[in-house]
Amino acid sequence: MKSLWNDADAAGFGGPLGQRVYTSRLLGRDKSLVLHGGGNTSLKIEELDLFGERAEILYVKGSGWDLETIEPAGFAPVQLDYVRRLASLPALSDPQMVNELATHTLRAGAPAPSVETILHAILPHKYVDHTHADAVLSISNAPDGDKRIRDIYGDKVVVIPYVMAGFDLAAYCAREFPQQKTKHTVGMILLSHGVFSFAADARESYELMIELVSMAEKYLAAQKAWSVGLPLVPALAFKREEAAKLRGEVSRAAGFPLLCRCNDSAHFLGFARHPDVARISQGGPATPDHVIRTKPLPMLGRNVEDFALNYKNYFDRNSQKAKEPKTMLDTAPRMALDPEFGLAAFGRTAKDVGIVEDLYGHTVDVILRAEALGGWKALDDNHTFDIEYWDLEQAKLKKAGNPPAFAGEVAIVTGAASGIGKACAEAFLKRGAAVVGLDQNPTIETLWQRPDFLGLVCDLTREKEIKDVIDKAVKHFGGTDMLVLNAGIFPASQVVQDIGSDMWRKAMTVNVEANLLVMQACHALLKLAPRGGRIVVIGSKNVPAPGPGAGAYSASKAAMNQLARVTALEWGKDGIRINSIHPNAVYDTALWTDEVLASRARAYNLTVEQYKKNNILKTEVSSKDVAELAAEMCGPLFAKTTAAQVPVDGGNERVV
Ligand SMILES: [Zn+2]
Repeated sequence: MKSLWNDADAAGFGGPLGQRVYTSRLLGRDKSLVLHGGGNTSLKIEELDLFGERAEILYVKGSGWDLETIEPAGFAPVQLDYVRRLASLPALSDPQMVNELATHTLRAGAPAPSVETILHAILPHKYVDHTHADAVLSISNAPDGDKRIRDIYGDKVVVIPYVMAGFDLAAYCAREFPQQKTKHTVGMILLSHGVFSFAADARESYELMIELVSMAEKYLAAQKAWSVGLPLVPALAFKREEAAKLRGEVSRAAGFPLLCRCNDSAHFLGFARHPDVARISQGGPATPDHVIRTKPLPMLGRNVEDFALNYKNYFDRNSQKAKEPKTMLDTAPRMALDPEFGLAAFGRTAKDVGIVEDLYGHTVDVILRAEALGGWKALDDNHTFDIEYWDLEQAKLKKAGNPPAFAGEVAIVTGAASGIGKACAEAFLKRGAAVVGLDQNPTIETLWQRPDFLGLVCDLTREKEIKDVIDKAVKHFGGTDMLVLNAGIFPASQVVQDIGSDMWRKAMTVNVEANLLVMQACHALLKLAPRGGRIVVIGSKNVPAPGPGAGAYSASKAAMNQLARVTALEWGKDGIRINSIHPNAVYDTALWTDEVLASRARAYNLTVEQYKKNNILKTEVSSKDVAELAAEMCGPLFAKTTAAQVPVDGGNERVV
């Protein structure tokens, strides 16, 4: 591990707090040190208060901030002498600790100080850095981990056995640190938890962290436990219906829909097919704080019922020993190791899924290296339980409001790169769905850089391409709950006697057959949707009120309309509902350039403004209006409606 320190960059961050921000970000950049909000850092500094009196302030990482992207505002300033004294109390409950830290924070609006604040306060150094380095975890969770750590570091570090983070750990260290420390002490190792380094200078404290972790890495290398490759196993063809079935079962166990991502990288697939996977994967997490995201253990294979039963036993066993009554969380796994899928990660949002995947990716390394040292040994599950059912975590659950309407669900939108399709993607994202946008236009791939959106290029008239993108969608998000059939073409105006067979066929292929193919590819998936499948067809005013010159278009849209009605009849028994929207005069799409609008308005002897609002309500209809209705049609308001056709046209006399 190398120091990433750069003088010029550091200078740009300014004074002591700026240096704290800079080196915190350097730590955050290395995922083998900290992951997703893990780790924390602090700075002790004297400041003058409004009366000109000196006060010692501890700036400590606030919860909700990631080291990699932290800003000065991400550090909570607390009253150092008071917080340090807390460690001398005989006991302090978690709610009391949270209260004391909050009432001794010196800036209104500062984030809640880290639960490890008191521990930072009792260490005498100006800069304190703390990570959960993979390499150190591998060693401390191997046989004789304690002894190995002492052999590697000698009197460079103080060694602390595993104690749960929070007041107990801080109080333990406050007693133990002064006794163990020598003039050579530059850090502290918390067994099965992580590493502290400290110094009077930001760079020195950061580089000591790098040095301490490098020593662990070198030890692993010397023991041939650093590069622990897995045998290369070939990935199998992805079976999307089986993945959707698994996701459906896990969602049922959770009591709400979850997204699922199957990752069959060599790393996960190799681990899932490791001959000893049943033993090494069922020991426990690399470090207990992962459990909030991952639950204590991955499910082996696909037996969700067994997993739920084991989880309930774990809860019953440990909750009986707890001081306060505990509320059991859902019994569904958040990860599964499967010989075909590799790692299947589950979460309510795409971000949560990514976090589970990252955490377990590092856990695999930690486990394999500890195995190479003679055997992976995790903490007993009562420690894991203490973190998973920590008062502070349980309180968060009680405070958490309702999730967005489509949390944990997946919507596929065709023709999503622009116009109504793009607005639909936005409307579903806004309601918490993960969205797969399909389009011929390659801009779809980069339309949004966010974890809950997957843009895929697809020619919907090619069955093979449809199959490929649906496979990708299911591998990425776990299934298909909602389908918005929006892609379509509007051929140039032609009277019936002039309609060419090519144009006719194209309208029928894109506006009808492509939708049929997409629905067919998604049928089994929609059937497996935890809350039932939903389809929305973006139809047209031309279905009830066709226009002269639009023969091919009107006929194709009418054919699709009829197909939707038959689908409603046939798929209702599968819990799938399908409804159609008939928009008219939606002018904020690529089809309607300023010139086209102006020429159409002229043809009716109207201004553009009059032309746009030429309907009963004299109102303009936008893509967003159509998209919002499409999303609502997939929500609870329309839960008992199928085969409906709803106009969004400002009122059209010919339709009325
Ligand atoms: Zn920690």
